[in-house]
Amino acid sequence: MSDRQGVAILGSTGSIGTTALKVLARHRDRFRVAALTAFSNADLLKEQAAAFKPTFVGLVEQNGQRTADSGQRTADSGQRTSDIGHRTSDIGDRTVIGRDCLIEAATRPDVDIVLNAVVGAAGLDATLAALEAGKRVALANKETLVMAGHLVRSAIERGGGEIVPVDSEHSAILQCIAGRSNDEVRRVVLTASGGPFRDWTRERLERATVEEALRHPTWRMGKKITVDSATLANKALEVIEAHYLFDLDFTRIDIVVHPQSVVHSFVEFVDGSVLAQMGVPSMELPVLYALTHPRRIPDTASVTFDPVALSPLTFERVRHDDFPALQLGIEAGRAGGAAPAVFNAANEQAVEIFLRGKMTFGEIPRAIAAALHTLDDLPAHSRDALQAADAAARAFVREKFGC
Ligand code: NAD
Ligand code: MG
Repeated sequence: MSDRQGVAILGSTGSIGTTALKVLARHRDRFRVAALTAFSNADLLKEQAAAFKPTFVGLVEQNGQRTADSGQRTADSGQRTSDIGHRTSDIGDRTVIGRDCLIEAATRPDVDIVLNAVVGAAGLDATLAALEAGKRVALANKETLVMAGHLVRSAIERGGGEIVPVDSEHSAILQCIAGRSNDEVRRVVLTASGGPFRDWTRERLERATVEEALRHPTWRMGKKITVDSATLANKALEVIEAHYLFDLDFTRIDIVVHPQSVVHSFVEFVDGSVLAQMGVPSMELPVLYALTHPRRIPDTASVTFDPVALSPLTFERVRHDDFPALQLGIEAGRAGGAAPAVFNAANEQAVEIFLRGKMTFGEIPRAIAAALHTLDDLPAHSRDALQAADAAARAFVREKFGC
């Protein structure tokens, strides 16, 4: 049993985190849950800790009280929470409270794989720390790569860690590429469900409600990514993610709308052959594959693939004019520098304001565009510079669009 791999789950109480625990419960012979962290859902974290008995449990915010700087999902204020390392008996007597619990969980010696399932830029430091400590990062937290792709790459070079994507499209691409060299790939085509507003008119989109935006047709996910799927900002994040993960120029990354979410993406090779990876829409396989890559292991929960039951599979062009967040993100990715961090942070802030009912759906891309336009020349050479760009974008959106 001692050769079981230790897994840390950052964001264990979220949609990906709970999915991962379901998967890990079936594979206790190979994996051991070594660490769990959550933002504020202490009750669920406690249940999970009782069921999986990790050696480390971390909670960012206790009893709804944000610790000194943990409430800022944005820039590092430079402060350190005063009670880091404080053990509390609320969840268990080995629970660490405060934002630094993420880094502690990600770098522990008994952790081999860090599943980063935190939402947003808050996951960046833990990804960097895990890679520098030589860990495998099973990355759901795509915002990390978007915000600081080149820092992530240099952390891999320095520490010898690796990233394996959890995002279903990128898992699909990885599975199709399967060891082929970059020059054998002509391009990749990411599939997009199109979200709940795929066939809505622009006028109707403008005043879509929070409830409507949260009604995703094929995936059950956290609120932020669900709204991103409705604006198509999620697909922009994924294009930038693919750029960094597979070292592909933006001209080699395309998108097609596929409402059934059965084909998870395509890879077109230089000889014209196209491979696709398919399956029913579930994050369990991408999570499992990120743990076992490049191997596959038997999984009893996998359902038999029935193409007839899943028919028809259809494909449509993206309506770029009606979903401007997508092109804004791709252009930010192409521009490089701090632009992807500004795009990501402006989007995170706008979505948060939208979810509070203080911004219309149509304003989300306008807020992102204004932030990118105004903050177009910020430094991006270091983590602190990118955190500052992130903070500036959030402040801009709050000031101009928030209430
Ligand atoms: P979620 O909101 O359901 O869960 C987020 C988790 O992160 C929770 O456990 C929460 O406690 C924790 N968290 C939130 N803010 C935090 C902070 N500031 N510091 C520390 N922890 C924090 O989100 P999700 O849908 O599970 O998505 C997680 C990530 O995975 C996102 O980056 C998302 O884009 C990506 N992803 C999700 C799916 C999906 O199916 N849900 C698919 C692909 C990619
Ligand atoms: Mg995806």
